[in-house]
Amino acid sequence: MVVGESKPIAEILEMLKDCKKVVLAGCKGCVTVCNVGGEKEVGILASELRLARKAAGKELAVLEYTCERQCDPEYIEALDDLVKDADAVLSIACSVGPQYVAARYPYVPVFPGINTTFIGGAVEHGVWKEYCQACGNCILGDTGGLCPIARCAKTLLNGPCGGSSGGKCEVGKGAVDCVWHLIYERLKNLGQLKKLEEPMLYKNWATSRDGGPRTMIREELRK
Ligand code: SF4
Ligand code: SF4
Repeated sequence: MVVGESKPIAEILEMLKDCKKVVLAGCKGCVTVCNVGGEKEVGILASELRLARKAAGKELAVLEYTCERQCDPEYIEALDDLVKDADAVLSIACSVGPQYVAARYPYVPVFPGINTTFIGGAVEHGVWKEYCQACGNCILGDTGGLCPIARCAKTLLNGPCGGSSGGKCEVGKGAVDCVWHLIYERLKNLGQLKKLEEPMLYKNWATSRDGGPRTMIREELRK
């Protein structure tokens, strides 16, 4: 899922300083799962904003709505009635959400209420880790199912850098596993250590981010 974290309330208040009425838009997708932008967080943030602005002597009306998903234009339409009288939209979806909202309402300012951080998963309650950098050409089949692109500090593709100690990465002061150590252990368990003898001569990065924004088209779904 896409993982994000809330922006500091002071930063949000600064963004909204000229507004009298805003739509606070949440999303029932990833940001609900990582407890940063769902219906509950919309309610909490709306109350915080109202209280902070009341205390500052400049009341703010906050219209609350949580979209089914903000990364799908058909669900953005549900905001139409609320947005028409509002000074701005504050989106607490991942950063796709504010961009879709901006596209639908060209004359209404849109602000992000969260910082989108990475593609990852929960490792325990309240802790998420990055697991993928969406390179577009997955090599997990060669690396025991563990991603050296997202999880090695140096994005090494052919084994460890030599700086790991006790299975920990030299980056992160011992707090982060060396993914190449994990890959080695995993391939050993699978009886596939021979894979490490076959160097990955190159990786096709044409599918990755550096060529600009990517588009995926699945013709069978378009019909
Ligand atoms: S190899 Fe690429 S697609 Fe696969 S997990 Fe790593 S970054 Fe993601
Ligand atoms: S110690 Fe391991 S994870 Fe850290 S940079 Fe080196 S190879 Fe990558």
